[in-house]
Amino acid sequence: MAQDDYVQFVGVQKTYDGETLVVKNLDLNIRAGEFLTLLGPSGSGKTTTLMMLAGFEVPTHGRIFLDGKPIDHVPPHKRNIGMVFQNYALFPHMTVEENLAFPLNVRKIGKAEIETRIKRALGMVQLSNLGKRRPGQLSGGQQQRVALARALVFEPKLVLMDEPLGALDKQLREQMQLEIKHIHRNLGVTVVYVTHDQSEALTMSDRVAVFNDGVIQQLAKPDDLYERPQNSFVAQFIGENNRLRGKVVAMNGTGCQVEIDGGGRVE
Ligand code: ADP
Repeated sequence: MAQDDYVQFVGVQKTYDGETLVVKNLDLNIRAGEFLTLLGPSGSGKTTTLMMLAGFEVPTHGRIFLDGKPIDHVPPHKRNIGMVFQNYALFPHMTVEENLAFPLNVRKIGKAEIETRIKRALGMVQLSNLGKRRPGQLSGGQQQRVALARALVFEPKLVLMDEPLGALDKQLREQMQLEIKHIHRNLGVTVVYVTHDQSEALTMSDRVAVFNDGVIQQLAKPDDLYERPQNSFVAQFIGENNRLRGKVVAMNGTGCQVEIDGGGRVE
């Protein structure tokens, strides 16, 4: 394991029913401070991978390391992980501030410290003046900002996001993408982000792991996915976002041959 790897999956497999592997022999290193996206079609194993990292699911085989330690040896409250999901899961009867304070109260953090953290987190998501409202009095975009702030009050080292912008309209989604990137840069946290949206993955990420059928097809920087898709699945999935328009030119028994405008050719 390289010194700057914060997360490491080693030979991780997952089956839910004892038969079908939904994650197959996954080896993946995530560097400290990077923004890594798991991109792939629905059902390809992205959320399962994230849930194993969050500790909500246990690998059937293999191991996951967090900051060099087997994750199952680190108690959940010491993992320093913040989570943001598509359904914001805010408590409707509590104000925004109470929603943010609740998990900190549970951890017995002091009142003054809680107030400082809430103020800082609401400032980061630009909601400083809405702390007294209840979720029902906020727009979808504002609720998603609260969910993000709730992850940030933990002062996490690792933030896991599963389709966090899926419920927002296009314009708001693009604005939030920029804000999430800004927060990532400012805080220097490691982010693992799940999406099925190619352009979101390619705009936001330092590296993208393209999933299909429980397997990482390619792990690369966005530019490399555009310019050097390693196989026909990646070329097709990146699709219209591929500046060089990788296209399938031949099929044979073992796969497709993809021709990339500009001369490249991959099998
Ligand atoms: P993705 O996030 O890429 O859409 P998932 O990890 O959610 O993929 O799902 C991968 C596969 O595992 C799918 O076939 C899905 O139906 C199955 N699956 C996910 N969660 C469960 C579960 N709790 N029980 C049984 N099967 C599941």
